[in-house]
Amino acid sequence: MSCNYADGLSPYLNKGILGAKEKFDDEEVVDEKCATLAEMITSSKHVVIHTGAGISTAAGIPDFRGPNGVWTLEEKGEKPSINISFEDAVPTKTHMAIKALIESGHVKYIVSQNIDGLHMKSGIAREHLSELHGNIFVENCNKCRTQYVRTTPAPTVGQKPTGGVCKGRGKQRACRGGALIDNILDWEHDLPDKDMDLAYSHSCLADLNICLGSTLQINPSGGLCLKNKKFNGKLVICNLQPTKHDKKADLVISSYVDVVMEKVMKRLGIEIPNYSPDDDPTKKGDTDIDWTIQQEKVKELEKIYNAKVKGTKKRKAFTYSWDMIDMKKEELKKLKLEKQQKKEKEEEKVKEEEKMKEEEKVKEEEKVKGEEKVKEEEKVKGEEKVKEEEKVKKEEKLKEEEKEEKEKEKEK
Ligand SMILES: [Zn+2]
Repeated sequence: MSCNYADGLSPYLNKGILGAKEKFDDEEVVDEKCATLAEMITSSKHVVIHTGAGISTAAGIPDFRGPNGVWTLEEKGEKPSINISFEDAVPTKTHMAIKALIESGHVKYIVSQNIDGLHMKSGIAREHLSELHGNIFVENCNKCRTQYVRTTPAPTVGQKPTGGVCKGRGKQRACRGGALIDNILDWEHDLPDKDMDLAYSHSCLADLNICLGSTLQINPSGGLCLKNKKFNGKLVICNLQPTKHDKKADLVISSYVDVVMEKVMKRLGIEIPNYSPDDDPTKKGDTDIDWTIQQEKVKELEKIYNAKVKGTKKRKAFTYSWDMIDMKKEELKKLKLEKQQKKEKEEEKVKEEEKMKEEEKVKEEEKVKGEEKVKEEEKVKGEEKVKEEEKVKKEEKLKEEEKEEKEKEKEK
């Protein structure tokens, strides 16, 4: 089962925000936003798509932090009910749309956090894809670093030996006997160099970064989409839950990624191809298919990066003349109004509380005053009583003395 791979990772407490409430834009809003996104794609020169677990849920692979995500449920002591095996999972509409966008030249590069291998299965060429957290259908040689496509999911996770031996073909012939390890990163592992280098450079060079199905909480993967911001690049986020970078995005679409991609592709006039096992390297029955990123590709991009980005001044701002800006203004207005109303309410509440406190204070003071008055009265009464008693005593004493004197006189 596909979620079981998460059990194989080391325990890790900080899993970020889990199970945040999903949000859905109205259908009309989704239509408008998709039209905007399609326009942004056609007017951009370097589009990079960043993908997370949210694009594979439609394939039956549970995500991690969604309402029914592996870790959201783990907290409640539950397991996802929808859970296909990696072997049976096939690429979704979104995976297939991305493949078509790469092939039509609309999109230059894919940066994925997914280990399910569905981008590979869609038939995307390796030179267009970084798999930052690994791929369950890939084995690495621990000696020569060659990557091989597996026909079945790896039996282990966390870069452990799978039992295979490197065949060391072609240039790598010198490597005989390197052990094969799985390609799934555990929490403490560094991200794969070449995947990371390419992902970083492409993210900086992108005039448009599009994030699909990720809450962008894992670093560094989740932060790459912001790398073009200082060069005036744009950011579009499509996710059901709020993400870490929504505030920095030029456009946020809250809808199912498959729905968004269908609408965008229709606008672009590109058909979404069906999944074909013929294009799926895991279905070719060949365990020698090379999945290694060629070092030349990294060098090539490094040159472009150095020429275009490194040490250059900020790029001129891209100007967008469509609804997006108005929509943003509207959204801002709405947010501002909500904020103001909230502030007013809070102020009113504070005033109310202060008024109540004041009233209580007055009551308390009155009570104290009343008590003091009573005490004073009691004191006065007490004093009067004492005086009265003393007077009585004095009179009695006088009477006594008179009596004694009278008796003395009688004796005389
Ligand atoms: Zn090797």
